[in-house]
Amino acid sequence: MNVLVVGGAGYIGSHMVQALLDAGHAPVTYDSLVTGHRDAVVGGAFVQGEMADAVALDAVLRAHAIDAVMHFASFIQVGESVQDPGKYYRNNLGCTLQLLDGMLRAGIRRFIFSSTAAIFGEPEYVPIDEKHPQRPINAYGASKQMVERILGDYDRAYGLRSVCLRYFNAAGAHPRGHIGERHEPETHLIPVLLQVAAGRRAHASIFGRDYDTPDGTCVRDYIHVLDLCQAHLCALEWLQRDGPSAAFNLGNGNGFSVLEVIRAVERVTGCALTIMDAPRRAGDPARLVADSRRIRCELGWTPRFTAIDTIVRDAWNFERRRTPP
Ligand code: UDP
Repeated sequence: MNVLVVGGAGYIGSHMVQALLDAGHAPVTYDSLVTGHRDAVVGGAFVQGEMADAVALDAVLRAHAIDAVMHFASFIQVGESVQDPGKYYRNNLGCTLQLLDGMLRAGIRRFIFSSTAAIFGEPEYVPIDEKHPQRPINAYGASKQMVERILGDYDRAYGLRSVCLRYFNAAGAHPRGHIGERHEPETHLIPVLLQVAAGRRAHASIFGRDYDTPDGTCVRDYIHVLDLCQAHLCALEWLQRDGPSAAFNLGNGNGFSVLEVIRAVERVTGCALTIMDAPRRAGDPARLVADSRRIRCELGWTPRFTAIDTIVRDAWNFERRRTPP
């Protein structure tokens, strides 16, 4: 299939391009390169363009005879979304709506959406299944929830079928080490810790030790980026076989606290990290752990890289290949 990968030069998008090529599909990356990297796009066609540029998007959708669209181009920082919600609603909601309208104009009706565990807010129970109430506590989660709602309406009204994949914490890198996580500035826990191990950063901070969790630090479900891409391939097949629109929670089902992740990074890298305590970060729930039984059952997805040490090892392999700043 010809698959438009919006945000294909970013962290998850670049791994998706590789996974599509490996599976025999033809990816077309559309990316503004504001946060993405041209050299992370390992193959397929590449078009530089803004999400907000409807004319350019229309041209790409038609020129490449696109069969399906995967959308990875969104802002993802929970804390920032609390400080500057407008940025999140304009991009994650407004631009996505424009993309969907462009798809309808071009007659494309298969869409895979990168949603998030943040749509659930502070969990009432864990692991979180698809029936869990949705009460996002930050603009990031709210913007994604609104797109999910729009997708339901667009299916009913226009026949645009979609699969929403609610990522828990994407982490790791391609085991070959040629692509990985490169946010600037980096805010995510594992790459931040690895930068400390690599000597690129003086210390890392623990955002809050007074959560209602076994060791007081936040618990998250880290999922290897390759397993996440595999779920997208399952979703693509599902839409190709005319499966109905669906939404799935996507994680390993294992929660690790910030302190446990720090210990895993110390084990894998062999470095003792300099760690400081810091206040809680706005918009962070105490525990987010996925119940992913539904996607395993319905799409036949099985994660392969579930051990936290494997996830950290692959991320470390990528970090070590990077040139120091
Ligand atoms: N975190 C931390 N220090 C950091 C970065 C993150 O303590 O330098 C914590 C953060 O509060 C959260 C967890 O690590 O509980 C994962 O955060 P990350 O930003 O990696 O992903 P998010 O959960 O925001 O998607």
